[in-house]
Amino acid sequence: MTVHFKKAAIVGIGLIGSSLARMLKEYNVADCISACARSEKSRKTVLELNIADAVFEKPQEAVHDADIVFVCTPVGSIPAVIKEFMPFLKTKAIISDVGSVKAEIIKKVFPELREDVFFVPAHPVAGTEKSGPENGFSELFQGRWCILTPTPQTDRTALSVVRAVWETAGMKVDEMTAKRHDTAMALMSHLPHLIAYTIVGTAADLETETRQDIIKYAAGGFRDFTRIAGSDPVMWRDIFLNNTEAVLDGLQRFCEDLTVLQKAIRQKDAATLQNWFERTRRIRNEVVEARQDQPENEKLLLKNKG
Ligand code: NAP
Repeated sequence: MTVHFKKAAIVGIGLIGSSLARMLKEYNVADCISACARSEKSRKTVLELNIADAVFEKPQEAVHDADIVFVCTPVGSIPAVIKEFMPFLKTKAIISDVGSVKAEIIKKVFPELREDVFFVPAHPVAGTEKSGPENGFSELFQGRWCILTPTPQTDRTALSVVRAVWETAGMKVDEMTAKRHDTAMALMSHLPHLIAYTIVGTAADLETETRQDIIKYAAGGFRDFTRIAGSDPVMWRDIFLNNTEAVLDGLQRFCEDLTVLQKAIRQKDAATLQNWFERTRRIRNEVVEARQDQPENEKLLLKNKG
């Protein structure tokens, strides 16, 4: 399905919003792209980099007459932002979002939804640890998954339109319930970030000499953890505040497994350790075979940075 809009609006034009805006322009998906950025700095960057045709401070100004509105702000702000611009939407406008947590957003948005507009919850699972409009790039989504989490209330035509947008961006698109999405993301993305935030914080708490050594010789695992732990603090604060149950459940399982490995190390139980690491290596191979090891995004990012 080919999609084309007279006007698309993007509310929150940071890494994801600006990558989407660039993609919509490059693939001629919208005649006009209108953006909303809260800060003066972001508005200036959007205009200087020609990411959108117009940029406004207030969401209601950006969504005026838009056929589709993508909300790309941190998870905790998405329901309130949608509520703010809802009265200013034209009839049959589609609202979609890119939030990394789905159930909480759905729970808050659907009761407030006007009868003559549509809401399609979505999560393009693509990103980097960078934030802000200056770091976006149109190829960010290529080859990655986008998960749509429709409810029985979701309009099927609007759902197909949003699917077509993300397919145009080069994404593979799947549909599932918000609960299934949030459970999978808790283990696949949220828990690994929590572990990175913890381990880098633990290193920061060590006495000065050890901490300086760790930073000076940072390599391998720790260096990768610092990259993840450098992710946007507000975005990740909101993810943990909104996917609480699934993250706590994953954390419980993680702690139990950690205790097994702790015991194996203390008891010098070589077989348990080796079996465990062989099993995880097989999982890594499956990830590589499924082409989810993501080198293409890193290459694209480097290319983009010149
Ligand atoms: P980002 O680069 O920090 O951009 C966030 C944007 O939202 C900025 O334009 C910011 O405006 C605006 N904003 C922040 N708080 C706001 C508020 N309370 N009200 C209105 N606008 C607000 O973040 P991002 O990485 O693009 O993430 C945006 C969304 O995408 C999040 O919901 C996140 O969960 C989701 N997501 C992120 C990734 C990823 O890897 N980064 C991947 C998939 C999905 P100013 O710059 O003007 O302050």
